[in-house]
Amino acid sequence: MRKIPFLSFEKMHSEIREEMVETFKTVYDSYWYVNGQSVQKFESEYAKFNNTSYCIGVSNGLDALYLILKALGIKPGDEIIVPSNTYIATALAVSYLEAKLVFVEPSIETYNIDVTKIEEAITSKTKAIMPVHLYGQACEMDKIMEIAQKHSIYVVEDNAQSQGAMFKGQLTGSWGIANGTSFYPGKNLGALGDAGAITTNDHNLAKNIQTLKNYGSQKKYYNEVIGHNMRLDELQAAFLSKKLTHLTSWNQQRQEIASIYNRELANLNQIILPSVHTSATHMYHQYIIRTQRRDELMKFLEDAGISTMIHYPVPPYLQKAYVHLNIPKGTFPIADELAETMISLPIWPGLKDDDVRYICQQIKTFFNV
Ligand SMILES: *Cc1c(COP(=O)(O)O)cnc(C)c1O
Repeated sequence: MRKIPFLSFEKMHSEIREEMVETFKTVYDSYWYVNGQSVQKFESEYAKFNNTSYCIGVSNGLDALYLILKALGIKPGDEIIVPSNTYIATALAVSYLEAKLVFVEPSIETYNIDVTKIEEAITSKTKAIMPVHLYGQACEMDKIMEIAQKHSIYVVEDNAQSQGAMFKGQLTGSWGIANGTSFYPGKNLGALGDAGAITTNDHNLAKNIQTLKNYGSQKKYYNEVIGHNMRLDELQAAFLSKKLTHLTSWNQQRQEIASIYNRELANLNQIILPSVHTSATHMYHQYIIRTQRRDELMKFLEDAGISTMIHYPVPPYLQKAYVHLNIPKGTFPIADELAETMISLPIWPGLKDDDVRYICQQIKTFFNV
């Protein structure tokens, strides 16, 4: 029987093995492992890729979001708008600063924040909107920017899942005052460990974040503020520089796999396929289908050797970590509905077309078509 893992680095990493091993040797033999040239080089390459003036490499995506909010001066009691169906990290960054999470439901079509519901959530305490480009698809950034400007609030994009995506031709991670991304290994651009970055066009903000992530220090042993150690390692930065040169082609492979799924599953009325906004591009960090028979289908596919996942089974507002928010189940019915009906199918560079068709065939068999 075939075995199709949910995610495998085998193909991707075997193809670039030599250059990655060379990269390791170069950093190893440089005898310099923190705050050095590899980080600077990657920062300038990623800023260029993302079409922003600055990129600040940091320890991971969660720290990136936290550092931005902290540098923006977010304080306890400030209100931050986040989608009700995001990954927990977006919410945690807000909680670290004791700011108030204000959840807004996603669109049932794109799964990104519903721009028609943002304004009713804004109060005099609202300081920022954090759109999350979920699963690889860009949010409706023109509307979000318009609302933010009208109410004089910040936009901070969570771009962990969508490096390379665009809305109306402009890249995600280049709209907000500052934006966080993650290079967790499984992301579209993944390090060989934890890593993340902040992109911004704001010179002062870039400088403040640079200081905050490095012990509150610009000059070694002189500390201006109570900072953190949230730096990106030289080794990870060097690996990321190499992998960045492949990102566009890997994103294309994801899109090609998605188009096979789209084509092969098009006529199944028992499942809902991903829907892409006409002005957005989708980098397919995840390929998500929805069905009322979710758990049965997952079990059926598992028995056919196909691993799938749920992104995510519990919305942040229903997590145990957030019981103190006292938000009853059912408050965010779209987030609930998504959590109950979604399945993420395998999608990764190197996944064979034939395996994608096998997965589709198994799904059709399950639904007797
Ligand atoms: C992965 C992810 C993060 C956090 O990134 P880490 O590097 O794991 O800290 C934040 N937001 C979203 C939407 C993510 O998918």
